[in-house]
Amino acid sequence: MNQVITMISSLLDNSGPIEEVEAIGIATFGPLDLEKGTIVNTSHSPKGFISLREPLEDTFGRPVLLLNDATAATLGEYFFGAGQRHANLVYLTLSTGIGAGILVDGHLLLGKDGNAGEVGHMTVDPAERLSCGCGKKGHWEAYCSGQNLPNFAKLIVEDLSSSSKLGRFSNSSLFGTSEALTSEIICREARNKDELAQKIIDEVGKLNTIALANIINIYDPSLVTIGGAVCLKNPDLILPPILKEIDNHLANRRPEIITTPLGDDASLLGALAAALKLYQIQPT
Ligand SMILES: [Zn+2]
Repeated sequence: MNQVITMISSLLDNSGPIEEVEAIGIATFGPLDLEKGTIVNTSHSPKGFISLREPLEDTFGRPVLLLNDATAATLGEYFFGAGQRHANLVYLTLSTGIGAGILVDGHLLLGKDGNAGEVGHMTVDPAERLSCGCGKKGHWEAYCSGQNLPNFAKLIVEDLSSSSKLGRFSNSSLFGTSEALTSEIICREARNKDELAQKIIDEVGKLNTIALANIINIYDPSLVTIGGAVCLKNPDLILPPILKEIDNHLANRRPEIITTPLGDDASLLGALAAALKLYQIQPT
């Protein structure tokens, strides 16, 4: 929290007095309690929650607007990116975690606590083989987020081994490295045509496709933009499987599906839009 205050103070040093600041917009990881202005159920604090709005309002004396980062990114996309004129818009982030922001008929979905876009915690594996950071099992994020992709890779290797199909992958460079397995290594080796890495990316593609189809079938957007480091660094690996297979899972008419043109700035621009009241956020 002190770091956030220091950052805002140094921004003010370079821009002007606090009296000229309309409001402070914050886009943060969740889950949130929007009414209390806190991040809840987090391992980042020994208390289990992080209070954001109150200390910032106490320090700077300006209104603070708090949003989940993916929800904020949807506003960024709507006002500054590819989502202009799309009243039905989904922004999906595939990053350290997985989340979405959802605009339906021009209404930004927030939910009772501000967590309406926590799509990364939808169950994609009823066998519940991997544990999610939220403490539950079988969630999309536990398999396909940047942080958890190595766990999914190990699970795939175990499955191949137990069905005696691992032999054809025995020369995989993923076995020959002394580095700890990361999503970056898996993507790099998939691009180098390593068959095991490609198999892992195929499996990730299947889950991403099913989960995104679920989102489209529920919310019926006209545009889906995808951001987050996993997608932005590997659009050649992440997007094609979705575009190729999603029709097999869609009941609703297929929307346009693209990577966000805003890069890493979608959430930041959304926080700006919220602070400028371009879109009136109305928590319950
Ligand atoms: Zn979860």
